[in-house]
Amino acid sequence: MTVVDEVRRTIERLREEVCALHAHLTRYDLVVWTAGNVSARVPGEDALVIKPSGVAYDDLTPASLVVTDLHGRLLEGDLFPSSDTAAHAYVYRHRPDVGGIVHTHSTYATAWAARGEPIPCALTMIADEFGGEIPVGPFALIGDDAIGRGIVETLARSRSRAVLMRNHGVFAVGATATEAVKAAVMCEDVARTVHISRQVGEPTLIAAEDVDRLYERYQNVYGQDPRERDHR
Ligand SMILES: [Zn+2]
Repeated sequence: MTVVDEVRRTIERLREEVCALHAHLTRYDLVVWTAGNVSARVPGEDALVIKPSGVAYDDLTPASLVVTDLHGRLLEGDLFPSSDTAAHAYVYRHRPDVGGIVHTHSTYATAWAARGEPIPCALTMIADEFGGEIPVGPFALIGDDAIGRGIVETLARSRSRAVLMRNHGVFAVGATATEAVKAAVMCEDVARTVHISRQVGEPTLIAAEDVDRLYERYQNVYGQDPRERDHR
């Protein structure tokens, strides 16, 4: 098999994977209409696979996804790439460890973003998955590198895999697109729980040393076997 054939097969596999992952966004009520998107890096290549712009979730197929380079320029596909492609591309260029990115306006997490308030680390699940509070990134308009830069700079100061972009929504990253989607699902779940907890009192925070212990254990011990990680 030539290198070109191998890249082609990888892209076909990522088209299937990223298409299937978009179904999780609707399954977990993280998106409405055509908002939201998932992308995956093509490993070792200057390329990513992402949702096309303005296509309904029910109409997404592996073939309808588009491939761009890591500057958002179209390489493959009949449709325009998602309007968030520049932000995804910026993150891939500056975070070689990131293999997948998800963007949603999921309701509860975005309600925290609307207040510009980080989600405090008041649940073991937040410590496990995010290693501390889920931080807020800057307000940034679409159109240049501002969103991507805001994501990268905010995540650089945190262990979190998710960032609440102020007045906008959630960007979540992972080593794979599946991990990024998991972080986006968990982010919405904890945003909702802490929000509900807040209705009748002030949630208590987990002590910093316990956060560290939970995070280390979850990321390393559970991390040895991803199946176990998903069964807890
Ligand atoms: Zn958005």
